[in-house]
Amino acid sequence: MNAFKEPSKPEDALAILASLPQGLYIGGRWQPAAGGQRIEVFDPSTEAVIGAVPDATTADAAAAVEAAARAAPGWRATPPRARSEILRRCFELMVERSEELATLISLENGKALRDARGEVAYAAEFFRWNAEEAVRITGEFGTAPSGGNRIIVDYVPMGICVLITPWNFPAAMATRKIAPALAAGCTVVLKPASETPLTAYALAALYEEAGVPPGVVNVITTSDPGPITAAMLADPRVRKLSFTGSTGVGRALLAEAARNVISCSMELGGNAPFIVFDDADLEAALDGAMVAKMRNAGEACTAANRLYVQSGIHDAFVHGLASRMANLQVGAGVEATTECGPMITRKAVLKIDRLVRDAVERGARVLCGGGPTPGTGYFYPPTVLADVPPAAEMANEEIFGPVAPVTRFDSESEVIARANDTEYGLAAYLYTRDLGRGMRVAAKIESGMIALNRGLVSDPAAPFGGVKQSGLGREGGQHHGIAEFMEAKYIATSF
Ligand code: NAP
Repeated sequence: MNAFKEPSKPEDALAILASLPQGLYIGGRWQPAAGGQRIEVFDPSTEAVIGAVPDATTADAAAAVEAAARAAPGWRATPPRARSEILRRCFELMVERSEELATLISLENGKALRDARGEVAYAAEFFRWNAEEAVRITGEFGTAPSGGNRIIVDYVPMGICVLITPWNFPAAMATRKIAPALAAGCTVVLKPASETPLTAYALAALYEEAGVPPGVVNVITTSDPGPITAAMLADPRVRKLSFTGSTGVGRALLAEAARNVISCSMELGGNAPFIVFDDADLEAALDGAMVAKMRNAGEACTAANRLYVQSGIHDAFVHGLASRMANLQVGAGVEATTECGPMITRKAVLKIDRLVRDAVERGARVLCGGGPTPGTGYFYPPTVLADVPPAAEMANEEIFGPVAPVTRFDSESEVIARANDTEYGLAAYLYTRDLGRGMRVAAKIESGMIALNRGLVSDPAAPFGGVKQSGLGREGGQHHGIAEFMEAKYIATSF
């Protein structure tokens, strides 16, 4: 890829697409799919086809696992310092290319450039963080309680990893897995989402340039992920599945992985409560709500999905939120002024529409937005609903769009019970000036991550992940993310 200074103009974006590598990336080579089929990629802002990628067959999937297996001994034996320096180079190249990568993400995902820039910075940070972690993997040494022997614990790479990622963060969800896997000494096959494969391939070319040896990272795309994944998981050399996506697909993959007892990390769906107590700083709570709801136009697993606001501050909060949401600039992701881009597909717009209609039929009031935008592109306007009843479908399902449903509450115990009334437990947001209350409520909320007086939890240096049906394991964080790709090997000895 060439470096562009400010590639927000459509002609620059087209140049980026033309410069992208073509083919499945297997064993360091770009190759067509065995069946010769391709998958078209669309710009959700215009509905125009912007590219096509190979549609892998099970033979391609087997070739990718074979390439990862061939590369495994060499990569595992590569000194941690050498692995670290390659990862550091991936970080530097991503930072150098951040504008063109952000434009590419905007084009295939639709998200506003400012969100895409944020994603590239976040995604690159996983390489910097794991470059640092790669040289800090340590073991344990001790004496058995009986005194009869010594206990040595070594941490070794799991081996070949299958990584599956969603479309909502095409760069970050991939680097959050690839960087720790490589730091740990594993080799990988990445299957990105079929809606946003271009970023994954652009990054594969960048890893190659950074010095990642052939076969250490392989990338395949498919329109039929079930059989392709099943073929990879059936290969006994695959020892790890790291998946980010919906809880439904996660459940099916856990069952599939059980056949060969494959270690699984699962980053699944969310249904985040955003709780504002009467004593909250109103402006700070509104700022936080805009980030928690509207980052990525609401297409985030951590997105505030249910806003609970205490009676005393309710009216002021709802009024402030509706005025901020109504003023957001909606448009094509690559336009510099856009604050809220399109949804990923028409199907996503129809789902949001169904959830909003259901809430309104059950008594919710529409304060702004409230129906799909007619015309070309998958647009849904920023929407605020008040008086959303607990029985509304959107209180139990991920909206994954720019809709903020607000419900009034009175007591602390009432809101804790409502917040926990879900199968999910990924992120939760609390606003209060009373730190004691904040910590007390945080302790009672069933969630892997709590943002206290903040609208954002994601940080490569913190353990990201959910409880309940939001997932298994953690990504990022001090040693948490890398530990998902390592196994303890214990040696008993006496001397
Ligand atoms: P999805 O439908 O579950 O798809 C995710 C990935 O799984 C895609 O690559 C998809 O491929 C693949 N896939 C689908 N069916 C499969 C199957 N039967 N076997 C193997 N792979 C399969 O989810 P999505 O709609 O792309 O993403 C949105 C979901 O991801 C939301 O629920 C969101 O909360 C969750 N998410 C969670 C986190 C987290 O960290 N917890 C982060 C981001 C997103 P295709 O694209 O080809 O269908």
